[in-house]
Amino acid sequence: MKKNLFTAAKPTGRLTLGNYIGAVDNWKKMQEENNSIFCVADLHSLTVNIDPQELRSNSYAVMANYLACGLDPKKAVLYYQSQIPAHSELCWLMDCITSMGEASRMTAYKEKAANKNMVSVGLFNYPMLMAADILLYDTDLVPIGEDQRQHLELARNLAIRFNNKYGETFVVPQGVYQKVGAKIYNLQNPTKKMSKSDFDNSGNILLEDSIDLIKQKIKRAVTDSESEIRFDPQNKPGVSNLMSIYAVLTKKDMKEVEKFFEGKNYGALKGEVTDIVIETLAPVQEKFNYFMSNTDEIIKIAQDGAEKIREKAENKIKLVKQKMGLIF
Ligand code: AMP
Repeated sequence: MKKNLFTAAKPTGRLTLGNYIGAVDNWKKMQEENNSIFCVADLHSLTVNIDPQELRSNSYAVMANYLACGLDPKKAVLYYQSQIPAHSELCWLMDCITSMGEASRMTAYKEKAANKNMVSVGLFNYPMLMAADILLYDTDLVPIGEDQRQHLELARNLAIRFNNKYGETFVVPQGVYQKVGAKIYNLQNPTKKMSKSDFDNSGNILLEDSIDLIKQKIKRAVTDSESEIRFDPQNKPGVSNLMSIYAVLTKKDMKEVEKFFEGKNYGALKGEVTDIVIETLAPVQEKFNYFMSNTDEIIKIAQDGAEKIREKAENKIKLVKQKMGLIF
């Protein structure tokens, strides 16, 4: 029997090569075997200080990239989180069964809240909204990067807690993590993840970067003072990150990659990585440009997607309210 799959990306910026390798390219394969829902988590974007025009344009761009990378509205549901009010409603109900202690322990929250003048309640609530997203649709599988592991664990705990207190209501979701490429790092600071939410994108390859910009970013990627091409993330994070990108995009395992680069220099590694990144992104960029010039198609796809799942979300909310003693 097909499993229910749910996952999302938030439009706080433009999708990166990290999102492609760690997420969207795998989602494309998984949509063949599962009942899949691919969400653009626009409500989650409001947890960072984002200008409305920028949010709107990023929201189009993330959906355009989903479609360009091969997520297919005939095989899966694609929509915007804010189209279905049940997400926000279930978030409140989840808030009320989450302890301050467990929410305060979330490392993503602690990192994002550090050194900020204003930390929104929304940022604190981020994991409970994510739990609501997942639990609304009886999700079995949640393909995510390592960075989301702790949030998924919270979603599982909330599902179990609710079921124990009020009776069977939620499916307890399972995270699906990739081995190679689960985390792609910033080219300028290879101990930090490549992220679309950065202010400075010099170390992030965006899926829509021009060929010249991709060449420049990889050429300037930080390596180390040795010359040996060896996979050793602890001691050689920059070189190992380039090797991971190369391995995933060429579908080679790390042993083969090490052998291929034996005796070669860092210039050769950067050249090969540049070629495979450009080759991979060329067809994606062509489709991306098409959808960005036809945003009416994006809107239609998202409306159709939301209509397919709206009733399921509303029914789950009714059930949860009834179990909790609310009259509706
Ligand atoms: P986000 O960029 O936080 O909206 O996440 C969207 C998806 O991409 C999630 O499944 C993340 O775990 C994944 N992801 C984000 N950044 C990276 C990265 N640098 N390497 C691998 N996966 C990533």
